[in-house]
Amino acid sequence: MSIRVISYGGGVQSTALVVLATQGRLDDVMGGPVDAALFANVGDDSEHPDTLEYVRNIAVPWAAERGLPIHELHRYRKGEIETLYGRLTRGEYRGTAIPVRGEKGNPLSRDCTADYKVAVLNKWLGANGATKDDPGTCAIGISTDEIERAGRGKDSRYERRVYPLLDLGLNRADCMRIITDAGLPVPRPSSCYFCPYHSRQSWKEMRRDEPELFAKVVDLEEQMNRRLASHGKTPVWFSDALRPLSEAVIEAQPSLLDGPDSCGSGSCWT
Ligand code: SF4
Repeated sequence: MSIRVISYGGGVQSTALVVLATQGRLDDVMGGPVDAALFANVGDDSEHPDTLEYVRNIAVPWAAERGLPIHELHRYRKGEIETLYGRLTRGEYRGTAIPVRGEKGNPLSRDCTADYKVAVLNKWLGANGATKDDPGTCAIGISTDEIERAGRGKDSRYERRVYPLLDLGLNRADCMRIITDAGLPVPRPSSCYFCPYHSRQSWKEMRRDEPELFAKVVDLEEQMNRRLASHGKTPVWFSDALRPLSEAVIEAQPSLLDGPDSCGSGSCWT
């Protein structure tokens, strides 16, 4: 019988899945009890620090007490953990990996979700009994208010995706209530702190509230552009202003249109 897991990103929807799993409320949708939740950590230098804190110090022990293991997974390269930040700052790397904006202003195609989430989960599933003919059942945390996301991801080699929150008719507010009713704090939306899907308003708030983190994003954008220039490539941008983030966010006005929101509310599937 195939293994049953939750794709756990540490955000609101997937934390609600973890709570529901410990209560046996996913058994019908999943075809039986959930075996584990899988947290594909994009990197300690890439995930938002609050997400890592929440997953490791709140969710993991809470779920373990209730019999549900949350496994933290990583991507490896040449036998060592390869973080997304590490890839983006590696001199010989020629790509962009994340949905930065190019000359025309539209987000460029990204490898990050496929490489750091989908492939990592698939590898774990394959190593834990899933096969092509008997894939693991993987619950994805998409709620009814973001149903359009459910069509973006496809089943992969060892994974058959299910969407329990849609089956149960639960929206984001329901998820928050499920989490608080369980006695847990509500987590922040999960995404890389440097995700270019952040809206300008989100960048502004980060600059105001988390200046050290914002400075790291500004530095990363500069590092990426120095690296791309060394390979003869044109610059890329982390906001739709198509200029350095440090300038774009200073000059942005509250009335300016925001871009698409961050992964935690719509762009990454975990
Ligand atoms: S949060 Fe953004 S940068 Fe991080 S993996 Fe998802 S799409 Fe990529």
